[in-house]
Amino acid sequence: MIDLSGFEVWLIPGSQLLYGESALHHVAEHAREVAGSLSTSPAMPVKVVCQPVATTPESIRQLCFQANQSEKCVGVIAWMHTFSPAQMWISGLRALRKPLAHLHTQFNRELPWSTIDMDFMNLNQSAHGDREFGYLTNRLRLHPKIITGFWQDPDVQNDLATWARAACAWHDAQMLRVARFGDNMRQVAVTEGDKVEAKIKLGYSVEGYGVGDLAACTEKASGREVDGLIADYEAAYTLAEPLRPGGPRRDALREAARIEIGLRRFLEEGGFAAFTDTFEDLHGLSQLPGVGVQRLMADGYGFGAEGDWKTAALVRAMKVMSAGLEGGTSFMEDYTYHFQNGGQVLGAHMLEVCPSIAAARPSLEIHPLSIGGKGDPVRLVFNSRTGPAVAASLVDRGDRFCLIANKVNVIPSEEPLPKLPVARAIWLPEPDLKTAATSWILAGGSHHTSFSLALTAQHLEDFCEIAGIEFLLIDKSTTLRSFKNELRWNDASYRLMGRI
Ligand code: MN
Repeated sequence: MIDLSGFEVWLIPGSQLLYGESALHHVAEHAREVAGSLSTSPAMPVKVVCQPVATTPESIRQLCFQANQSEKCVGVIAWMHTFSPAQMWISGLRALRKPLAHLHTQFNRELPWSTIDMDFMNLNQSAHGDREFGYLTNRLRLHPKIITGFWQDPDVQNDLATWARAACAWHDAQMLRVARFGDNMRQVAVTEGDKVEAKIKLGYSVEGYGVGDLAACTEKASGREVDGLIADYEAAYTLAEPLRPGGPRRDALREAARIEIGLRRFLEEGGFAAFTDTFEDLHGLSQLPGVGVQRLMADGYGFGAEGDWKTAALVRAMKVMSAGLEGGTSFMEDYTYHFQNGGQVLGAHMLEVCPSIAAARPSLEIHPLSIGGKGDPVRLVFNSRTGPAVAASLVDRGDRFCLIANKVNVIPSEEPLPKLPVARAIWLPEPDLKTAATSWILAGGSHHTSFSLALTAQHLEDFCEIAGIEFLLIDKSTTLRSFKNELRWNDASYRLMGRI
C-alpha cells in the first residue's frame, strides 16, 4: 500500500535583515507554529517542515538546492510574513526543481483594533509582502499554487493538502517505471503516444517486455504459494460454485493465482509501480490476467489495458494522490449508455476494475471472454460504491499532453445486472451526458480513464499545473460554446507560449 507519511513539504518564511533580530525571531516563531498546525491537520498527508527564515539571496539559493536534493521533500511552500524583496529569490527559485506553493496568509486572523501600532504593522505584512513575491513568480512564469486565507481555516488546510497530494504524485512520477507486457492493441490510436516526451514532460519511463518473460515468472510460482493465495481469495471474496474446492474450474483458479504471483514478482523485482498488458499478446499465458490485475491495482499499482501506458501511469498517479482517502481509484472505460433518466454511463472493462471502488464484498467468478482466444479468465465482479467521482484521461495530442477530466456522480443501478460478468459503475456525468460526452469527444479524450471516488478535479488540476500540461475540466459550468472556445484558445496559447 502507498504511504505518504514519510514525505515532507518545506515551509520557507520570507523576510529580510532590515527589521532587526527581534522581529525575525517572531517571524521564525510564528512560522514554526504555522508549520506545526499544518503538519497536524487531519487533512495533511505529509509532514510540514519549517525552514529557517529566508533573509539573503544566498540562504534562499542554498535552501532550494537542499530541497532539490532531498528525497523526502516533495514540494516547497513560500510565505512572506514580512516584506522580502523578491530579487533575493530569483536565483533560488530559478534553481528550484520541486513544486512550489505560495501560502498567502498572515499569523493573526483579526486586526487588534485597540492596540494596533506601527510595530504590529511592520511585523505582519504579508498583505503586501506576498504581492511582491507574486510579482516575481508571475514574471518567472513559475505558476505556483497560490492559496489565500487564514492558516487555521479548514479550507486553507484542505487546499494545501490537495496540492501536497498532487506534489507526492509528481515526486512518484519522476521515478516511475511502467512495465508494458506486449505492445499496443494493434491499430488503436489513443492508447499510443510519445514515450520519450512522456519521460521529458512527466518523468516516467515505459519499458517493453515480451509476455514470455512474464509467463516464465508465473511458472516459478510454487504450489504452496498458489495454495496460500487461494486462501486469501477465499477469505476476501465469495467464490462462485465452479471455483470452489472440487469444483470443475478449480484449475483455472489455480492458474489465475499463479499469474498474480508471477505478475507481482515481476513488478517487485523490476521496481515497477504500473503496468499494461493486451489480450492480443498472451503468448505463454493460459488466460488474460483478471483477478491478479484487479488486486494489484488495489495495492496501489497503476494499470492500463491494451497497452495503454498513459492510463496506467495516470492510475498510479491517482493512487498516490488518494493514498489514505476514502473512496477508491480504478482503471475504467466508458462502455455503454442508458439514454434514459438523465443519461447514464455504464463504466466497466473486460475484467480489470479495481476492487478499491467496490460497494460490497466482491464475488470471484469465471466466464468466457469472447475475444483473445485463450482460456476463460477469473475475475472479481462487484458494483461500485456511489457518490461524487472524477474520470480522467491523459492524451497525447501529437504536439503536447493534455489531461481531460469529467466530474460525475455514481448512482445505484436501476435494476440488477444478473448476466453482466464484470465489475461495473453507473454514473451521471456533469453537466449532463449530452454536453459531457460531446465535450469529451471534441477534446479527444480516451475511452480509457482513471476513475476515482476519492479525489476531486482539484487534485488533477494541481497535478497538471505542477507538470505544466494542459488541463480541461468538464463540470456543471461547462457549455459547449465555451468549451469549444477553450479548446481553440488553449491550442493558440500553448503554441504562443512555446510550451509545446
Ligand atoms: Mn479497453
